Amino acid sequence: MRPSVDESVIELYECFKCGGRTDTAIDGCDRCGGELRHLGRSRDL
Ligand SMILES: [Zn+2]
Repeated sequence: MRPSVDESVIELYECFKCGGRTDTAIDGCDRCGGELRHLGRSRDL
């Protein structure tokens, strides 16, 4: 049995200020520079 690793699952972050979402863990939102909140993982986006 192999461990169930789903490579399609990505980390997701949402901006507190503008609500923009990104899957890249950077210092801030690439649109407004706001703080990012970690939403967890999603395979639907
Ligand atoms: Zn933003």
